[in-house]
Amino acid sequence: MQILDGKALAKKIEQSVADEVATLKAQTNRTPGLAVILVGQDPASQAYVSMKKKACDRVGFYSVSHEMPEDISQDAIENTIKMMNQNPNIDGILVQLPLPPQIDTTKILELVDPAKDVDGFHPYNVGRLVTNLDGFVPCTPLGVMKLLQEYNIDVKGKNCCVVGASNIVGKPMASLLLNADATVEICHIFTDDLKKHTLQADIILVGVGVINLIKEDMVKDGAVIIDIGINRADNGKLVGDVDFENVSKKCSYITPVPGGVGPMTIAMLLSNTLKAAQINVQKKD
Ligand code: NAD
Repeated sequence: MQILDGKALAKKIEQSVADEVATLKAQTNRTPGLAVILVGQDPASQAYVSMKKKACDRVGFYSVSHEMPEDISQDAIENTIKMMNQNPNIDGILVQLPLPPQIDTTKILELVDPAKDVDGFHPYNVGRLVTNLDGFVPCTPLGVMKLLQEYNIDVKGKNCCVVGASNIVGKPMASLLLNADATVEICHIFTDDLKKHTLQADIILVGVGVINLIKEDMVKDGAVIIDIGINRADNGKLVGDVDFENVSKKCSYITPVPGGVGPMTIAMLLSNTLKAAQINVQKKD
């Protein structure tokens, strides 16, 4: 069994983003800019935003975070996004999810300029992904594809079982795999007999939020296991959705949690923001 080391690959990608930022600055005097909108006090969201901000600093991006109270109005968030859409120093806009219940999340995500949609959540970019056209792809599944490529794990013709069907993880994951010629199955909370599906899979990609959902008897020998879940165990430790200790004895490759998909998500945010900045620079030429 080999560990898919997302932390190491993320570091490598970060270094190459930093190098490209330096080149962009030298050639055009232009610094890529990311705006983050954070609503409320959710500790996990605060932690993610803080990690993203630190990563931006490390690669030399300009970043600004708009922190808003839990009871903020729809209009106030929309106005901030409109401002960021117009701001020439901002290449990427990220709205940290989830938003509070009084907010219409779809409307907010649809307001982000698709050219600044570095999270790939705007329906325009979702459509481009589904039709296999270039655009912005959600960072977590994009990071998974990069990790598979790094270890020369070709998904073409492989049976891939995606467990979890959210708009930000499972569905874009399935689209990317399909675009790469895999045979893809998507399972979710209403799937009958999950084990029947996972046992057929050469590659299992699980992003659900349930500790130990994937157990040893649900995995065929030599399968590749991608654990996208992030959960806080009773002892305070971060764990994924896979029973790592037992599944790792049976599989060929596995991502650890932490240190697997998580760091790749942040690396892809940096890479998407750099891409947005590079497109913006070209537009002005
Ligand atoms: P979500 O709640 O929006 O979606 C969960 C999905 O899992 C749904 O499709 C649901 O049908 C399915 N599901 C729930 N229980 C299930 C079960 N028992 N069996 C099969 N399917 C089940 O969550 P999300 O935002 O997609 O996040 C999923 C997980 O991925 C969470 O643990 C989250 O923390 C993690 N996540 C990790 C990263 C990362 O960078 N590694 C990024 C985003 C989300």
